Amino acid sequence: MKTPVYLDYNATTPVDPRVVERMAPHFTEHFGNAASRHHSLGADALHAVDQARAQVADLIGADPREVVFTSGATESNNLAIKGIADSAVYEDRRRHIVTVTTEHSAVLDPCAYLESRGFEITRLAVDGEGAIDPAELDTAVKPDTLLVSIMHANNETGVIHPLADIGRLCKQRGVLFHTDATQSVGREPINVEAMGVDLLSLSAHKIYGPKGVGALYVRRRGPRVRCEPLLHGGGHERGVRSGTLNVPGIVGLGEAAAICKSEMQTERKRLQTLRDLLETDLLNRIPIAERNGHPVKRLVNTSNISFVGLDSDGLLRKMPEVAASSASACTSASLQPSYVLRAMGASAKAVKGSVRFSLGRFTTEEEIRFATDTVARSVDQFLLSKGDPGCVRDDHPTC
Ligand code: PMP
Repeated sequence: MKTPVYLDYNATTPVDPRVVERMAPHFTEHFGNAASRHHSLGADALHAVDQARAQVADLIGADPREVVFTSGATESNNLAIKGIADSAVYEDRRRHIVTVTTEHSAVLDPCAYLESRGFEITRLAVDGEGAIDPAELDTAVKPDTLLVSIMHANNETGVIHPLADIGRLCKQRGVLFHTDATQSVGREPINVEAMGVDLLSLSAHKIYGPKGVGALYVRRRGPRVRCEPLLHGGGHERGVRSGTLNVPGIVGLGEAAAICKSEMQTERKRLQTLRDLLETDLLNRIPIAERNGHPVKRLVNTSNISFVGLDSDGLLRKMPEVAASSASACTSASLQPSYVLRAMGASAKAVKGSVRFSLGRFTTEEEIRFATDTVARSVDQFLLSKGDPGCVRDDHPTC
């Protein structure tokens, strides 16, 4: 079968060939352990890691010493949230964490885990466009609040939270601020200083780097943030994350970060134009199509559309030529309807019919035109096939 048009870049991205090229020698001739201090192979590996650390730091306006390499954003989120909760520096006073109902499970689940260990978790609601109310955040923060964890951009809708406003509020109230920026790093300009962020999670495989590598930014000054490790061992990464460094992966992450930084401005414009073309076309041609999420405050590559009354899983099965997602790819294994859209107050039919289209570096206008034609045709066919079990009918007990 022909490779489908790939519109699922929020799930993962292909590795950029330039990244593969930079990584390749670190599997073969430059295979050293970055912790081997007594020969040149170790020194070469360490040099490559240092360079990658500087590239990642540069993308988010951090100091290289503030970058801790991890296995991906799931680990970074766990390290940030559980590592802060575990830290003896904060344990005397703070047992309360504020987050948002539409966070990724890699934030919600560590919070739920801490809740089971006696922490208090406040989960802020969002409005119909996916936004939080800053006044509600202000009210939620209490004298014993340890951490606020609010994502930058949502993986399902692309909706962006105002990091600088949240960071300012956290500073004023003396609370640490963690953000899961997995979907926005490399796509949106980020500066941890200007945004008042204390901890930030990112992942290589969302920015044209390899899978299984990521980073956590941990602020060193104003305040110096203390994170207890999840993994204890050889004391790598300044003792915050033990384990032999994944040198090829880290080199790939660094190169991916550098490419995103140099191409961000032009790529943002290009993607927004293509995304708007896709969205306008779908909304104009398909009467049952509705957009989910804020029309403007969202990632330029993401469009979440509900085909109200259809079952999006069935629809996607009918059009294998287009690879999109019916919910967050990470949670669709659970076959639960999107909790993100439900939290935004979407109707059951809108949730069930929602498709996330996410564009990226290798998306072309030709692909977008092919995709909109294919989706419009498939929806028509779907609507004609009334008895199709994929179609959500009012009288269907499971719909
Ligand atoms: N947070 C968000 C917002 C994500 O989109 C993802 C990936 N779907 C993750 C965390 C988990 O990232 P990783 O795959 O690197 O563990």
